[in-house]
Amino acid sequence: MRTQMRVCREDRTYTLRDACPRCGSPTVAPLPPRYSPEDRYGSYRRRLKREGAK
Ligand SMILES: [Zn+2]
Repeated sequence: MRTQMRVCREDRTYTLRDACPRCGSPTVAPLPPRYSPEDRYGSYRRRLKREGAK
């Protein structure tokens, strides 16, 4: 499941829109693309698989 919540980098306003309703600045996803729960679980599962494949 992927959240569509975005946040304004100027005033930290959370919104579902691409632009902040307060100041009109472009909003960004709260989490950086490289740091996602899916990646964490992926590496964790790969490590488990490697350790369990003896
Ligand atoms: Zn804003």
